[in-house]
Amino acid sequence: MKLIDSHVHLDDAKFDPDREQTIERALAAGVECMMAIGTGNGPPDLEVAVRQADRYPFIYSTIGVHPHDASKATPETWTRLRQLAAHPKVLAVGEIGLDYHYDFSPRDVQRDVFEQQLALAAECAKPIVIHTREAWDDTLAMLRAHWQGAGIMHCFTGDEAQARQALDLGFHLSFGGVLTFPKADAVRQAARIAPLDRILIETDCPYLAPVPYRGKRNEPAFVVETARRLAEVRGVAPEAIAEATTWNFERLLFAGRDR
Ligand SMILES: [Zn+2]
Ligand SMILES: [Zn+2]
Repeated sequence: MKLIDSHVHLDDAKFDPDREQTIERALAAGVECMMAIGTGNGPPDLEVAVRQADRYPFIYSTIGVHPHDASKATPETWTRLRQLAAHPKVLAVGEIGLDYHYDFSPRDVQRDVFEQQLALAAECAKPIVIHTREAWDDTLAMLRAHWQGAGIMHCFTGDEAQARQALDLGFHLSFGGVLTFPKADAVRQAARIAPLDRILIETDCPYLAPVPYRGKRNEPAFVVETARRLAEVRGVAPEAIAEATTWNFERLLFAGRDR
């Protein structure tokens, strides 16, 4: 089974002791491609994922400012993001959005930085990776007002109604470890109704490890568990999920060009 993990944070310090081995385990598990999320600890370092993409042929990257770090953005941030967007392995702008759970940055600043990054993504013709937590209505309103392209709802944990709203906007839904949690019936229902050509899988490692690794450090190799559960939920073979999610990723992020 060949899989693509659409959302990894391999720059996280939790991988410092064994980053190379973690990547080896991913390849051994059939994870042939990963999209490293470039938000890191926020500006001024906007290149955490680009550095990995430069190093490994099967790692691609995003660039962006996480809503947590919105208050760290400066005029230099925008100049640097524009430069980095031209890097051949930068596939998307993300993860961007709104997080009203932690409120690490003031909400008006989060909205402003989100809006500026939607404009940046449109200007560079890149899809976006959305992080939204306890901010669904505002996120959707901003996308409706300021976004016309493609994108990914990363770590989708909404219900069927929210899934339909995101799908209507043209978004792909990326499912992670939460899909395997015993109480996540609403998320599984969303995963059941989503069209096969609009789903992706991810780990969001080191966070949110799927069952049976729940509570442990997550890593890309574990995306296999999410693929298996997604297959069960949809009543298809795991290979069918692997094939569809790989194809969806390539169509969305590579837009037909070779990897
Ligand atoms: Zn996130
Ligand atoms: Zn993430």
